[in-house]
Amino acid sequence: MARNVAIIGAGVIGLTLAIALAKKGIYVTVYDSKKRASDGAERASGILSKTGLERLHINYKDSVVNSLYGARLHANRVELNVKSKYVQAYVLDRGRLAETLYKDALSSGADVLLGRRMYENDIKDIARDPDSIIVGADGAVSSVAKAFDFPGIKEYVLTYKAEYSRARIEDKHRVDLFFANSVSNRFFGWTAPYSDSKLEIGIGTSNSSKGNSRSAFEKLIKNDLIASMIDGAKQDGAHASLIPLSARKKTVKGNVLLAGDAAGQIKATTGGGLIFGIACAKIASEVIISNINSNVPLTAYENEWRKAYGLDLKLHSLLHRYYSRRGTLGLELLMRTAKLLGAEDFFSKYGDMDSPKAMIKRFFLRGLAD
Ligand SMILES: Cc1cc2nc3c(=O)[nH]c(=O)nc-3n(C[C@H](O)[C@H](O)[C@H](O)COP(=O)(O)OP(=O)(O)OC[C@H]3O[C@@H](n4cnc5c(N)ncnc54)[C@H](O)[C@@H]3O)c2cc1C
Repeated sequence: MARNVAIIGAGVIGLTLAIALAKKGIYVTVYDSKKRASDGAERASGILSKTGLERLHINYKDSVVNSLYGARLHANRVELNVKSKYVQAYVLDRGRLAETLYKDALSSGADVLLGRRMYENDIKDIARDPDSIIVGADGAVSSVAKAFDFPGIKEYVLTYKAEYSRARIEDKHRVDLFFANSVSNRFFGWTAPYSDSKLEIGIGTSNSSKGNSRSAFEKLIKNDLIASMIDGAKQDGAHASLIPLSARKKTVKGNVLLAGDAAGQIKATTGGGLIFGIACAKIASEVIISNINSNVPLTAYENEWRKAYGLDLKLHSLLHRYYSRRGTLGLELLMRTAKLLGAEDFFSKYGDMDSPKAMIKRFFLRGLAD
């Protein structure tokens, strides 16, 4: 019976899983190549829905740097303004979140070994021990997935983002999202305020597109609205990264599981991976504990996470496929039509960043109530 759990990757997902297992007395070792828990955190943003975060029961409150009430969606000349009376999402400091989870993992009893890059042979060596379970929480380009020949991820988004201080921010509680093929092929650009004067600007482009994300970024910051926000601002840093846009067809093989970006548990519409990744890590922890205590097969993880979140992730993929295939004019028309049909009002009242399933339900319930 397996007794030791080796987690490759001390990102948010690996650490969350380590905390859940260690709290139940399971012997866990986490390996990560980075030297400090917060290293590399600035490569991604930290926008998470309030409702999603509250459901996860993780220690995030000290990492909140801003709250968001709405979003402005731009498609060429059309603008959709969604604004709620209530906080819809938080902007988290990813570095601070990583440090908090690292400390929580250690105090829960997990071993977290930083500065330990795991190569395919190291990972295979651990897997040979019948008493071990391995979890690949090693991100978009997973060595664990490669070592055990898991099915690939079909589409990625290449991202480029930069942070600016002394930016001119009209409303720090709103993000701006820029859709249109002329801006980004199959994804979007964004501005996200961290405070009254600190702004993040980023863009993603599909790995199937010809241009790169850096040149798309250079073009994005010439947009009149964005140019006025960073006129006189100072760029503090810039980072390129990767977002997987689809789940792998298989996430369990023998005593090896994948979680988070390594599994592709991410919303294809926004590239947000934390809410679903953490939720799936919780399922992984429950299945691993049942496997150790009562021999429940590890394949239960695959069934359970797909049952809980598979439909929502599929709906995100369908939505992404739908809008990303419209040309610039098609998107403009789509947005104009949505506006005429009252989308601003509907999303302001019923918008749910995580669950299209819940939104569709509310749409029909509202229809019945009307
Ligand atoms: C530009 C950008 C913006 C984003 N914005 C948001 C957002 O606003 N909200 C949101 O929810 N999500 C967002 N995401 C997605 C989110 O960042 C990821 O879904 C999340 O970080 C996945 O966590 P993870 O722990 O699975 O992987 P990662 O955060 O990638 O962590 C993997 C860890 O594994 C380690 N590792 C990898 N290979 C090895 C190895 N061989 N040996 C040892 N260690 C290894 C790495 O060092 C790393 O620490 C964004 C992503 C990007 C790129």
